Amino acid sequence: MSLSIELTAPNGLKYTQPTGLWINNEWRKAKSGEKITSINPSDESEITIVEAGGPEDVDDAVAAARAAFKDSAWRDMSPTDRGNLMIKFSQLIEQHAETLAAIETWDNGKPYSVALSEDLQEVIGTIKYYGGYADKVHGQVIDTGSAKFAYTIREPIGVCGQIIPWNYPLAMAAWKLGPALACGNTVVLKPAEQTPLSILYLANLIKEAGFPPGVINIVNGYGRSAGAAIAQHLGIDKIAFTGSTATGREIMKMAAVNMKNITLETGGKSPLLVFDDADLEQAVKWSHIGIMSNQGQICTATSRILVQEGVYDKFIAQFKEHLKTTSIVGDPFKEDTFQGPQVTKAQYDRVLGYIETGKSEGATLLAGGEPFKDVNGKGFFIAPTVFTNVKDSMKIYREEVFGPFVVIASFKTEDEAIERANDTTYGLGSALFTRDITKAHKLARRIEAGMVWINSSNDSDFRIPFGGVKMSGIGRELGEAGLEAYSQKKAVHVNLGTWL
Ligand code: NAD
Repeated sequence: MSLSIELTAPNGLKYTQPTGLWINNEWRKAKSGEKITSINPSDESEITIVEAGGPEDVDDAVAAARAAFKDSAWRDMSPTDRGNLMIKFSQLIEQHAETLAAIETWDNGKPYSVALSEDLQEVIGTIKYYGGYADKVHGQVIDTGSAKFAYTIREPIGVCGQIIPWNYPLAMAAWKLGPALACGNTVVLKPAEQTPLSILYLANLIKEAGFPPGVINIVNGYGRSAGAAIAQHLGIDKIAFTGSTATGREIMKMAAVNMKNITLETGGKSPLLVFDDADLEQAVKWSHIGIMSNQGQICTATSRILVQEGVYDKFIAQFKEHLKTTSIVGDPFKEDTFQGPQVTKAQYDRVLGYIETGKSEGATLLAGGEPFKDVNGKGFFIAPTVFTNVKDSMKIYREEVFGPFVVIASFKTEDEAIERANDTTYGLGSALFTRDITKAHKLARRIEAGMVWINSSNDSDFRIPFGGVKMSGIGRELGEAGLEAYSQKKAVHVNLGTWL
């Protein structure tokens, strides 16, 4: 059996889709013979079947990553050369951007225009940014007096296991590969089983860029099998995970087996506060982007909107109008589509389940509240859904839905807004809208979250640290902070005096 297939994407693009596991710079079959079928969420048709790696394949990938970590081809490569490889990799991604975007749209359902102009730009930018950092990861000299000094060396952590989700397959891979490679680690990366195709295509570019065998290994597979094998593996030194809080907790337990260094990016129910003095038009536009982009499948989605009572009615009316004109649902390959299908039937059912919960909890349905049927009656599309008159005790106010689904409530005072914004087990994103800059900065300090957006929402940037507090995660990715997660400091003490 060949480990690739010739495919034609729905936009007519013909390309060769790899279907194997990428270990030691070559394609392999899964040892168990297990497979995964990739489904097009827009029409529920089968795209192709790929190999599903398991624990034995993870063993092979870890062995390759360990050998590469020890091999002088990588270990002794100058940091500048390492950075140049990464920049070459980013250039290759740029050359293949249209193919990668088409695969991402086909497999994940996100609009092609967004995949190309946002996701791919972020992937290219992130790899290039960290490529530039490769020769700027320095230690320090610490003076402790005339008889002694010390210095620190920033060393890679070793073999890194990276488990990523399906909402931004390529971008999540880039967020994790960028800092890991810049710091000189080697990697075993597992894509989400729902969306492996774009990352398998990316694998071909790894070899072309010139990375030595074993530096980047990609083991597609199920979470319970390949994912758990990575989390528990004694040959892996660090684990980085993005996904649900429940799985993050499981991974943390498994990673305890050899006390792996750990970075977790998990769930959220991020608040967005609109004060009476806000620029309402801006607040409406950003609140819509903050929850409805990417089909609502964003960990930092500002899914709880709290509006001060003086502008509550006006906000609701404008939000509803904006939703009607902007949230165009349909074929993700069409130019004007804003929202494609949910990624899988499971996610579609999950969101519909929360819609039923909202109705039974007695919240007011302002918009949506039902599936959106495409012309062919197929696909996992959901009408963008808004509930108002939501109480803080309701499940739809407290739990992460991960879909085009938002709850809107009102508040009276600043203190009440902050108290209610922080009344959650999560702490990932947050946003606030006001024209009063003093109030904005004071409140930014009081919100329990890893990120605060003042007068915007979800405009993340690869140069800025990203991560959560409370049950939204541990550690930071992106920016200079991302390098901390993939390097460790060794202290060297130098005695300049004579002892006895
Ligand atoms: P998940 O957290 O279970 O999956 C994310 C990744 O973890 C995938 O690669 C998966 O294969 C892997 N995984 C799953 N179980 C594992 C295990 N036991 N050991 C090791 N790896 C494992 O997410 P899901 O089930 O696909 O989605 C469920 C919910 O998670 C969503 O509705 C959403 O609320 C949340 N989610 C959050 C994010 C995020 O960006 N924070 C992304 C995806 C999903």
